[in-house]
Order: sequence, then C-alpha cells, then structure tokens
Amino acid sequence: MFKISKVKSRFVLDSRGIPTVQVMTVVNKGDVDFYGVSSVPSGASTGTYEALELRDGGKAYMGKHVLKAIANVNDVIAPALVGKTFTSINDIEAAILACDPTPNKSNLGANAILGASMSAHKACAKAEGKHLFEFLNHTYFGDHAMKSMPRLMCNVINGGAHADSGLAIQEFMIVPNTKNLESDIEIASEVYHTLKGKLKKDGHSVALGDEGGFAPHIKTSTEVLDYLVDSIKAADYTGKCDLAMDCAASEFFKAGVYTLDNKEMDSKELNAFYVELADKFPLISIEDGFHEDDFAGWKLQTETMGKGTILVGDDLFVTNPTRFQEVGLDKDLANAVLIKLNQIGSVSETCKIINDAKKNNYKTIVSHRSGETTDAFMSDLAVASQSEFIKLGAPARGERVAKYNRLLEILDYMDK
Ligand code: PGA
Ligand code: ZN
Repeated sequence: MFKISKVKSRFVLDSRGIPTVQVMTVVNKGDVDFYGVSSVPSGASTGTYEALELRDGGKAYMGKHVLKAIANVNDVIAPALVGKTFTSINDIEAAILACDPTPNKSNLGANAILGASMSAHKACAKAEGKHLFEFLNHTYFGDHAMKSMPRLMCNVINGGAHADSGLAIQEFMIVPNTKNLESDIEIASEVYHTLKGKLKKDGHSVALGDEGGFAPHIKTSTEVLDYLVDSIKAADYTGKCDLAMDCAASEFFKAGVYTLDNKEMDSKELNAFYVELADKFPLISIEDGFHEDDFAGWKLQTETMGKGTILVGDDLFVTNPTRFQEVGLDKDLANAVLIKLNQIGSVSETCKIINDAKKNNYKTIVSHRSGETTDAFMSDLAVASQSEFIKLGAPARGERVAKYNRLLEILDYMDK
C-alpha cells in the first residue's frame, strides 16, 4: 500500500541551460515519508511521432519555458493522487496516465506525465526498501535475473543537430566489448582522451558538443571513423572496442534525397554506403540510417545488413509500442529499438516496449537525450530490463558522467 502525501513540480535547468520539469512525489508508509525526485530529459533531433513535449512559447527562455507543464502536474496530476492510497505502483501509474488519455499526451504534455511517473517509481522503490533497479526489475521484468551490465555506447564525436561542425551524421560512438563494466569504462575514457590528443595535434577544435563528444570540423564519416580506429589502436585496445553510429538521417533528408559527406544519395546509394562502412570498420550498430518514414530504405537495409549489424530504430519507433508493432514487427524493419523514456512519456509504457522487443528478438538500447540532467533513472532502467546496451554520451560533463557513475554504484549493490 502506498499513500501519496505530496506531488509537487518545479522547473530546473537541463544541460543546455533550458528549463525542464522536475517532480517530487512523497509516499507515506507507516508514518515515514519517502521522497522521489526526478527530472525529465529533452531531445534536439526529435522524431516526428514522439509524444508532445509541452513548452510555453512566448519570450521566456526563447519560448522553451515549461510553466504550463509544471502547472499540469500541480493542478491536474497532483489532485488525482494526493491523499489517496494505492495498492501498487501499477495503480498509481494508471491514475497518472488517466489524467491525459490523448495518444500523444498533448493535453498535459509528456514532460508533465513522465516527471510524475518517474518520481512516483523512485518514491515507491524507497518505500519498499528497494533500489530503483530492483524495483523496476520486480515490477516490469518479472524478477528476471540481473546477471550482466549493459554494454556502453559512448558518443565521442558529435555532429548533426548536436554540433555546428557541418558533419551530417549525428553521433560516432565507441563500444567497448570486454563484458566487464569497469574495464569498458576504462577503455571509453582512455580512447576518448587519446582521441582528444589526436584531434588537437591535427589542429582540430576539441570543443564539446551537446553529448560531451568532440565536435571537430571534419566533413566526412570515413575520416571520423579513421580517427576512432587510430585512437583505439593508440590506446592499445584494438579488438576490445567496436564502433557505432547514430545517423539521425531524418535530419539530412529532404525531398527524397540524403545529403551527407559532400554527396547527395538516394536510399539505395545510402544503403551501399553503409555496407561499405561496415565492411571497412568494426561498425557493429547503425541507428536511424534512414528517414523515419522511408520504409523502403529501412527494408533494404534490414535485408542486406540485418544479419550482421545491429540496426536501431530511434525516430523510427519513438519508444511507442503501437508504432513498434506497426512499423517494426509488421513490416519487419530494423532489429533493435532505442528506448527513451520521454519519447512515450511514462515508465510503464517504456517497459512495455522493452518487453515487446525482447519477445520478438529485437535488442534494446536504453538511451539518454541530448538535453539531460544528473538524474540517472535510465541507468537503473537499463540494468533492470537487462537491455543489451546503454547509450550515454561521452565520459565527460556531469550530466553524462552521472549515468556512468550510477552504473558503477549499481555494480556494488548487485555484488552483495
Ligand atoms: P536527441 O538525440 O536527444 O537530440 O534526440 C539523441 C538521439 O538521436 O539518439
Ligand atoms: Zn538517435
């Protein structure tokens, strides 16, 4: 039994200095108060089909203030919860979701609903005396054994909407493969710093993009991938560190044409380009290689590369169980799902798509957003769901490092 005594929202700043929704939920059990506080992340290269992130418009914070979403938590969601006793987190979640029955959460905003949902899970976990990852594992994943930590996808070169370098592909990631979290983090850090040295030596800027990676003015993907392979070699980790890309291709697609690396390509040519890259480099995963509605491009890629390469739908699926069914499973596109809590706007729906993906042999990659806070809820979710990967930016900047450090903390709790 959980009695909710308080739900209160306020704004805090995210890693871009833009306001985001924070919610505090207080659960009362046996006269003791248990506090759950969560902050909502925010994307820049958002998929068209994502749930609505409610922004105020007007002058404040260039139209990006979230006072309306905060008022929706305080004036609509809080009265539906406060003073009531619920038998389970599932009932609390149902009461939160009932506050906005629209398909894309356009009444209250997915940021309002997700803030309430995440903070309620944190408060209930504490009231149960469980760590958040244990509580999520128990609630949504049937106490499935938590034997392994997710593999890291570390975004070390930022392009696309996360930088102003002119590089079309948004993310170039290193993916250590030692099956040991501490060794993987060591590799990520050393390769990141080796890369920094190499870029500097060649006269490139080592200013950071939104996700903590470097944003040099390098124009072609091949050149970037060469830098990564060289850095892995120089740090003495050849064979122990793979590569991945998030193309975020919807951002460089216009009227049937993909423009990248000083070339214009149609879907077929783009697919051939990806095949070439995967042949030449230890590239194990390609996310959003095609526009979110270019199903023919996705199909071609799935048929030609789907056996050997992880093909990840982010903008394609937008963490939406219905869209995943209709676009992923029914059309047989991609073989992995990127999981972002704020694309769908609640913890329970996020866990549903993870379970749907697992049942259908799609891999799951729990992901941060380019706009983050130090809230590391996603690290707990990645472990709880035993997702194969976690995508968490470069090992730099507080909001990115918070996710790495929470994984390390969880490692010790799992060890007991
Ligand atoms: P976003 O980028 O958070 O700006 O959407 C991350 C991604 O595309 O995976
Ligand atoms: Zn993406």
